[in-house]
Amino acid sequence: VDRFVAPEATPSEKLNEQGIRPSRLHDYIGQHAVRDQMSIFMQAASARGECLDHTLIFGPPGLGKTTLAMIIAAEMNGTLHSTSGPVLEKPGDLAAIMTNLEAGDVLFIDEIHRLGPVVEEILYPAMEDFQLDIMIGEGPAARSIKLDLPKFTLVGATTRAGLLTSPLRDRFGIVQRLEFYSEDELQEIVSRAAGIFELPIDDSGANEIAKRSRGTPRIANRLLRRVRDFAEVRHQGVATKAAAEDALDTLKVDQAGFDTMDRRLLLALIDKFDGGPVGVDSLAAAISEERDTIEDVIEPYLIQQGYITRTPRGRIATRLAYQHFGKPWLGTNG
Ligand code: ADP
Repeated sequence: VDRFVAPEATPSEKLNEQGIRPSRLHDYIGQHAVRDQMSIFMQAASARGECLDHTLIFGPPGLGKTTLAMIIAAEMNGTLHSTSGPVLEKPGDLAAIMTNLEAGDVLFIDEIHRLGPVVEEILYPAMEDFQLDIMIGEGPAARSIKLDLPKFTLVGATTRAGLLTSPLRDRFGIVQRLEFYSEDELQEIVSRAAGIFELPIDDSGANEIAKRSRGTPRIANRLLRRVRDFAEVRHQGVATKAAAEDALDTLKVDQAGFDTMDRRLLLALIDKFDGGPVGVDSLAAAISEERDTIEDVIEPYLIQQGYITRTPRGRIATRLAYQHFGKPWLGTNG
């Protein structure tokens, strides 16, 4: 499903995010608890001349997990080696990266919950004792070799900590959870990125983008790029509130950051099912979407924001959902 407000990086963003990604901890906006703790942990490890403990970062896509991993490497003066769970298919894939590590480096494994069990087993002694334990060769000639690895920091990222096996989770000394960003924080992120784009922006313009960014910096930066186009073509090159409204209304991203899909789902729930409760399959049929699309792509943000609740008898539209469309809410359903 292609959605303008999807939190995952588009292929073009994967290539272009670099320029606006904060590279040091003091440029990392929001996430104050995480930032304060990481600052202490990194200073303490540096002062002891040690590597930072292995760190697990979890949270929804687009909130800054990769960015934080890069910042850790920069602050600890190590080289970052990036890979991801699905890419590491065979033990040899992991061994190839690990044998390139130097003392103090950071190995970043994105989507670490998607590691296969065989690769994961190799990670345990590597994390615990900095030992690489692999089999080479096949059949009767196969033998196991042990290599000493330099001390390094593993940074793992996952969208859902619950998907990690407990032996893996237990090997991380530091676990950080990223939260959705507040409107003020997103406004700061947008203003900072606009500065890098050399785009004049005013506070109300940045705030308008922040409000519609679904708590997610990646979406905020994506909206900003399109607002810049509208500003340059129709608003004398300045990202004012009017320019932001012009762009985002045209792109059909509303005041709450909802797109057409969100609105269709909420309106079906309200108008066709009296606000519910209704089973997800009936809802899927009513808006001609797959059940999986509803559960994986549309619903999570609506539930997290309190527009929908999930009950054993089905989905319910809350008072907030009615208010969003200016419809009268007639008390509790369900
Ligand atoms: P994730 O790995 O969690 O999917 P990323 O680290 O790739 O997310 O972040 C997406 C984009 O959002 C980055 O390119 C960066 O520009 C921006 N971003 C993320 N976190 C912050 C932050 N704390 N301050 C400023 N910009 C951020």
